[in-house]
Amino acid sequence: MTVLDRFRLDGKVAVVTGGTRGLGAGFVRALGEAGAAVVLGGRDEEAAAVRLTELTAAGIEAQFVRGDVTVPADVEALLAGALDAFGRVDVLVNNAGTCVHAPALEVTDEDWHGVIDTNLNAVWSCSRIIGGHLVRQGAGTIVNIGSMSGAIVNRPQWQPAYNASKAAVHHLTRSLAAEWAPYGVRVNALAPGYIRTAMSPVEEPRFRRMWVEDAPMQRVGEVEELGGAVVFLASDASSFVTGSVLTADGGYSVF
Ligand code: NDP
Repeated sequence: MTVLDRFRLDGKVAVVTGGTRGLGAGFVRALGEAGAAVVLGGRDEEAAAVRLTELTAAGIEAQFVRGDVTVPADVEALLAGALDAFGRVDVLVNNAGTCVHAPALEVTDEDWHGVIDTNLNAVWSCSRIIGGHLVRQGAGTIVNIGSMSGAIVNRPQWQPAYNASKAAVHHLTRSLAAEWAPYGVRVNALAPGYIRTAMSPVEEPRFRRMWVEDAPMQRVGEVEELGGAVVFLASDASSFVTGSVLTADGGYSVF
């Protein structure tokens, strides 16, 4: 087996929450290109239909299961849909997420709970329900999409709920990695910096100085630049890696 063979995911099935657009769509594509059959979670059926057409054209086996990650019954349905379609699950990517920009005293309770429900409580539900399936089968990998915001405080926009949710995701990653290593399940996190998606309006001039000019690489990232990291963490290429948070931020958080 060559080192590149260890990145292959042939015969594996990967579930990606929020696989309909943004980073999740990129992760689905990368995992599929590495050989996995892919299951996309999400709520947007139109976007999912476009993704399925693209994936099928690329020769990637794919299935969409509509659902809201904050609803545990929908997460059960996501697992059931994946098992119905492909008979197994090997990889879980907890990617679905949301962000609210507002100073702390302007964050409503509804905003706070909305962010924590999607970014943290849903990662917990998916870990318990889909990760639980991996634990019972005695093998699998989980990649939680955290953020550099789990370690730094972003500027100029304030986003206290988001930052707290991602720090918690990083530490939940370590907690589950410790607990599930004896069951053959590895749990890691990927912590991106600013990547061009709907969540990060990187073209807005007001963000340019602090998001781009302050960064070592003087640019934001593109979705495709994270595919290698997620395949690494999902595959045997990272077989001795668990409980890690891999930062992919163009060096942003070194300052
Ligand atoms: P987008 O807003 O572009 O996409 C968010 C995705 O999450 C969509 O596919 C959406 O699917 C899904 N989603 C959101 N809420 C729910 C929900 N309740 N139930 C099901 N799916 C949901 O964001 P990004 O692609 O930028 O972000 C993806 C992840 O990466 C997030 O966890 C984010 O925090 C993280 N991240 C992003 C960074 C960036 O700069 N872009 C930087 C660091 C981390 P649908 O609309 O179909 O429901």
